Amino acid sequence: MNNSSFSIGQIADIFELKSFDQKTKAIIDKLVIDSRIVTAPESSLFFALKAKRDGHTFIEDAYRNGIRNFVISDPGYLSAYPDANMLMVEDVLRALQQLARANRTQYALKVIGITGSNGKTIVKEWLYQLLAADFNIIRSPKSFNSQLGVALSLWEIDAQHNLGIFEAGISKPNEMDALADMIRPEIGILTNLGEAHAEGFASNLEKLKEKLKLFKHVKLFIYSPDYTQEIDKQALPGKRRFSWSIRQEADLRILAVEPIEGQNQIRAIYKHAEIECLIPFSDRASIENGIICWATLLALGYTPQEADVRLAKLTRVSMRLELKNGINQCSVIDDSYSADIPSLAIALDFLNLQNQHDKRTLILSDLHETGKDNEFLYAEIAALLKQKNVSRLIGIGPNITAAAHLFELEAVFFDSTQSFIANFPAVHFNNETILLKGARKFEFERISKLITQKIHDTVLQIDLNALAGNLQFYRNKLRPGVKVMAMVKAFSYGSGSFEIANLLQYHKVDYLAVAYTDEGIALRKGGISVPIMVMSPEPSAFDAIVRYKLEPEIYNLDILERFLDFLDAGTTDYPIHLKIDTGMHRLGFEEAELADLLKVLSASNRVKVASAFSHLVGSDDEIHDDFTSYQLRRFTAMADELSAVLQYPFIRHISNTSGVSRHPEAQLDMVRIGIGLYGFDGGLAGNRGLQTVAVLKTTVTQVKPIKAAETIGYSRKGSLPNGGLIATVKIGYADGYSRAFGNGVGKMLINGKAVSTVGVICMDMCMLDVTGLDVKAGDEVIVFNEKLTIADLANQIGTIPYEILTNISQRVKRVYFYE
Ligand SMILES: *Cc1c(COP(=O)(O)O)cnc(C)c1O
Repeated sequence: MNNSSFSIGQIADIFELKSFDQKTKAIIDKLVIDSRIVTAPESSLFFALKAKRDGHTFIEDAYRNGIRNFVISDPGYLSAYPDANMLMVEDVLRALQQLARANRTQYALKVIGITGSNGKTIVKEWLYQLLAADFNIIRSPKSFNSQLGVALSLWEIDAQHNLGIFEAGISKPNEMDALADMIRPEIGILTNLGEAHAEGFASNLEKLKEKLKLFKHVKLFIYSPDYTQEIDKQALPGKRRFSWSIRQEADLRILAVEPIEGQNQIRAIYKHAEIECLIPFSDRASIENGIICWATLLALGYTPQEADVRLAKLTRVSMRLELKNGINQCSVIDDSYSADIPSLAIALDFLNLQNQHDKRTLILSDLHETGKDNEFLYAEIAALLKQKNVSRLIGIGPNITAAAHLFELEAVFFDSTQSFIANFPAVHFNNETILLKGARKFEFERISKLITQKIHDTVLQIDLNALAGNLQFYRNKLRPGVKVMAMVKAFSYGSGSFEIANLLQYHKVDYLAVAYTDEGIALRKGGISVPIMVMSPEPSAFDAIVRYKLEPEIYNLDILERFLDFLDAGTTDYPIHLKIDTGMHRLGFEEAELADLLKVLSASNRVKVASAFSHLVGSDDEIHDDFTSYQLRRFTAMADELSAVLQYPFIRHISNTSGVSRHPEAQLDMVRIGIGLYGFDGGLAGNRGLQTVAVLKTTVTQVKPIKAAETIGYSRKGSLPNGGLIATVKIGYADGYSRAFGNGVGKMLINGKAVSTVGVICMDMCMLDVTGLDVKAGDEVIVFNEKLTIADLANQIGTIPYEILTNISQRVKRVYFYE
């Protein structure tokens, strides 16, 4: 490997360890923080970070995967493995940062450090696009800008690189010093200063000062005075400074931003002359990010002409992995954003998380890793593919084709994207998950078009990271040992099926629960193996329940007896879940029925009670707190009665989402979390702490001027008394946009502006009043997102978020994101 490497002794010195008992020799070139992701165990160093879970609990797993070098902070592990090197430090994350810093400082490359409230990643990626012709660049992968992300990024620097571009993100005071000390930028870029993370700081000034700590020692500082008003210019960092502004005097003084056909021509004064450039984007954020890149090119000494040529070629940066439906029952993960090893590893993890198909195919282009020897590069990739269970490789490009002999899996190779497309009919895709990962110049979007189903213009986007974050939010509230049952009934509250269940299984929920047997079957067919409870187990489906190892909810004697009759005489201990009625009066055993229930259960060993549970009727509302306590007492009493006779332990559970946030005493052995995973909790004011999971988008089909006397839509219900402009959009009640939203009740967002419906909602379309706005066919329309929330929509028509979400019809395509 030509990556950086340190001997274990050197590393002990970097950590300034007073005593280190070296058990075995080792040269370290890989830092591992996830015990599942190990490619070369003998040269890997595992850091037992204290993150969501204590990394020490994964040491055993890492050891089993062959790792023999560990950085720990818990002395209990010092002599756990006689043949392993244990580096005992006070703070494992600090140690990782020290090592990253040591790697960084051994190279004399030029480093650009970027921070700011927004745009860090886009500016970093665009500078990479703009400067790649002149430098061997190392940059942070994706948006790795945290205390951990920065350290991992810096570790990747090696002797080949002559320019580094790293972003730094902070959310609280006193976080920047550690990042600055690692990154040590020579050039600093402050993108902007906005509202993000305002809650972490006492004032905007405090936040600004914290961010500027990154630039303490820079030689060149690129910024806009619009964001640094509160600081005296003399106190700004940088021996040399380069400023840009739309509002005031600056080195690059923007005069005008003129839209032309989806792009923007920008004119400015620079060195007393008027110059211009074309930014090939139309949204405001891209214009600002483009100007920052423009300023940077000029500050680095590029001529205005050269800068213009390069900026016009910028391409969109998408940092998300998208999971879509493909042709022939395939699932497609689309990631053509960057092709380097760290981002490939991330994408392969996401591929690995998909269980819906046994076969996993990777379509991979040549990687752009300047300076790396082809053999080494592709040997590393081959090891990665083996470890990530890739079943088939389709390699595209001359370099990967030359390395064909290194891959020990089913593989075919093509010289170019063109030749793959020409041979496409001969390459079969069927019932598999396909990861598409290609460097920009290979234009994999052409392949994406061939293998994905066309997406209808209305899509529900599901952010899987946000969903995982919400799960963690509730986990943090649980006592140790309390299990989690994730409620994925009604297609995960309208959000998906195995796609969501895969994620929940990966994050180790203990149970899943669905309403009907066929939902459970769909999950099993999608490769989900965690226990699944079925809440309405129709007797006609008992056969399927047993065949797919689903666990029925038993809510009365009749269903219990029928299930017992159905089971073979040979079956023992089939898991069932007893529903107890403590006040909902929907399904479940009443207290008076327990004696009969216990008689039947005692007489048969065909079933075994896996759990007993009840459901709270008003856990989200203070008004019902007395009733909630009453339900909990009744449930406990009835569960005790069951325990006394059954003589074996079973899981007790009663809490739903709001139960977890408002009634810690009701956690018992397990909680059932539903709507909270999807970002709502009636018991949390403003859903504080939860992230938005679902965004519903559609598009404008047509824009039409309307005269004062005209009417709009069915039954002539709509009109614009002063005349105006309407936009017809592709969503109607058949998509789940209720007719109740008609006639001005519903609002949508176009280009950030709220607009109202006019007239009645049709089956597949509806009309919006866009009078006075610059709206055209093809514009994106937000039905709900983090600003116009599902809760807002629910309020508009007098319902609850649950109904809005679950009403979105199955014909609206779901697209899943993972970052
Ligand atoms: C739907 C459901 C839940 C989840 O409720 P949320 O309020 O969405 O968390 C829990 N238990 C049962 C029995 C349910 O039907």
